[in-house]
Amino acid sequence: MNIEELSIDALATQLKELEASYSELAACKLALDLTRGKPGMDQVALSDSLDGILGGSYRAEDGTDVRNYGGLDGLPEAKRLFAPLLGASQDEILIGGNSSLTLMYNVIDFALSVGLRGPESAWGNSDQVKFLCPVPGYDRHFAICEHLGIEMLSVPMLDTGPDMDAVEKLVAEDPTIKGIWCVPRFSNPTGCVYSDQTVARLARLGQQAGEHFLVMYDNAYAVHSLYPGATELPSIRDYCQEYGTLDSVFQFGSTSKITFAGAGVAFLASSPENLAAFTQHLGYQSIGPDKVNQLRHVKLLRDSDGISAHMEQHAALLRPRFEAVLATLERELANTGMGEWLSPQGGYFIAFTTRQGLAREVVSLAKAIGVALTPAGATHPYGVDPDDQTIRLAPSYPSLEDVQATADAFVLCVKLASIRQELG
Ligand code: PLP
Repeated sequence: MNIEELSIDALATQLKELEASYSELAACKLALDLTRGKPGMDQVALSDSLDGILGGSYRAEDGTDVRNYGGLDGLPEAKRLFAPLLGASQDEILIGGNSSLTLMYNVIDFALSVGLRGPESAWGNSDQVKFLCPVPGYDRHFAICEHLGIEMLSVPMLDTGPDMDAVEKLVAEDPTIKGIWCVPRFSNPTGCVYSDQTVARLARLGQQAGEHFLVMYDNAYAVHSLYPGATELPSIRDYCQEYGTLDSVFQFGSTSKITFAGAGVAFLASSPENLAAFTQHLGYQSIGPDKVNQLRHVKLLRDSDGISAHMEQHAALLRPRFEAVLATLERELANTGMGEWLSPQGGYFIAFTTRQGLAREVVSLAKAIGVALTPAGATHPYGVDPDDQTIRLAPSYPSLEDVQATADAFVLCVKLASIRQELG
């Protein structure tokens, strides 16, 4: 029953019971942590055979000795393996080091200070540089902008992706807006998959925006579905081809949540012109990436079928953790008016929306009984959620038992905060 329909007496009775349960839980001295979206130990162990997989054979298919310098844009067989993940062709992908976030930082820094098409094109030539940030979103995207002095403008995230009416309006009005962050499949943190129409409209932004506008299309969870038949993402590259906007999109991905989060392979895809310019820029920073690791990944994952089979093993480990949280939310909070959430079909997160003004209160109630949650506000630019409503839950790392215990404690804190608020 919705708490707004409960009598004062009924609310007061519930509050007493909840406060008693909360005190009992506090006495348990819990030490639970649902903060960061790291793969669990059982997940990273799925790729332990990377160690020693080359068996002393260090030659790539073109004869390159992968132990030596060179190959700035990656091994051809690694391009062949990862290009389908981003729907790109092999001349549209670059294989880098272990972190896609590093590649994203590098692209923005390059566009800002050096220029995608020479010094005249550098965003930094203008006094103001702004980026659109769909919220809730990924804190590290926002941190890149903040660190590089790029002003962030929030736009709402819908179940279909960013609110494209708002995006198109802002982009048409303000030529100092130079880009937008996107996590198109199993978005961090809502778990939504961008709709076909959203992807098409993002691809068309390159026609509507000022020069050298970039869609930063971070497809971190491209193959990370929890269920067979999870919603697919249409190809933004094909829409870009249709609209003549290939230069306006950089796509990113990595194996951080396929193999080892700290020792995977990252990649980016864009137009051949963008790739040539970016590779030249990269040449000032590195003589070449870790090609030994690239070859190890090709040996382990082999092809798209190999990646799918490997991801099914991840899904088998992640599914029970997600289902434990979602079943608890559903059982305890559905139709109570105390919160909303999507049930993601993949990715690493569940975004919980509290009643207005309660996210920080819930996080601090949880902290006081030993349950660490991602700080409220982390999902918004500058760490400020104006409605104080979003809490990101990341169930991948703790054991299933701890995930369940955290979910139980979480719903208790949500109820406590909501009923106290309702009673005023
Ligand atoms: N992009 C998103 C949306 C993420 O959620 C994460 C990690 O949580 C990353 C990028 C980090 O990627 P990488 O490990 O390749 O740097």
